[in-house]
Amino acid sequence: MSICLVANWKLNGSKEFNTQWALEFFKNFNGKNFSYLGIAPPSIYIDHIKAVIAGHEIMIGSQNIDLEQSGARTGEISASMIKDLGCSFSIIGHSERRLLFQETNQMIGQKLIQANNNSIIPILCIGESAEENQSNNTHNVLEQQIVEALGNANKLSSLIIAYEPIWAIGSGKTPNPEQINSIHEMIKDVVQSRFPKIGLESVLYGGSVNLENATSLFGQKNVDGALIGGASLDGREFALIANVFNELRV
Ligand code: PEP
Repeated sequence: MSICLVANWKLNGSKEFNTQWALEFFKNFNGKNFSYLGIAPPSIYIDHIKAVIAGHEIMIGSQNIDLEQSGARTGEISASMIKDLGCSFSIIGHSERRLLFQETNQMIGQKLIQANNNSIIPILCIGESAEENQSNNTHNVLEQQIVEALGNANKLSSLIIAYEPIWAIGSGKTPNPEQINSIHEMIKDVVQSRFPKIGLESVLYGGSVNLENATSLFGQKNVDGALIGGASLDGREFALIANVFNELRV
């Protein structure tokens, strides 16, 4: 089973936070299999969180990687470095990185190649703005993001896509579950028909996932899991969401 539930901690955390989070998570998670769970802490805490969850097969990943392997690029971290720390995945092209750090689809494509070259599973984030959604442009926007990002990376051995409508992130709003399901179906069709050499493992949904909406989301056939921001900062809530997933899909 691929990575299905990923906690994106963004710019949050501390050693104390990691320890408390794990205590709450392990107290409340009632599954036996941990291997479909992922945590993307701030990269500086990768080693610490690995020590805190030692003995459990939760995957650890980064929230970003650089588009180069090494060189004069102050402040960056590479796919080979996170591999060296034992990471198995990296979030790539999150809308916050696109917006705040001017990441383009072309740059994201280079990061996908870096991940693939270092056996890191990329979680490619795509999503439309509120305006694009309201003008019924969602499909075109998503297709363009996929085609431009995968254009030069058309032989990835594995890929996870996270559909994250920008307007749903941190807002408490989500598309309805049936709409999400049909968008995921469209994403799978686009990747499989245009990039048959890419091993698309799954399509996750991200944007205001919480305990209340988890059951209806995970009940959708084409929703293979979730990328979770705000609700993942609470170890108990992340565990309870994982319990819902465990019951419906594992
Ligand atoms: C995210 O930013 O990846 C995300 C899904 O955030 P939230 O769950 O807080 O909407």
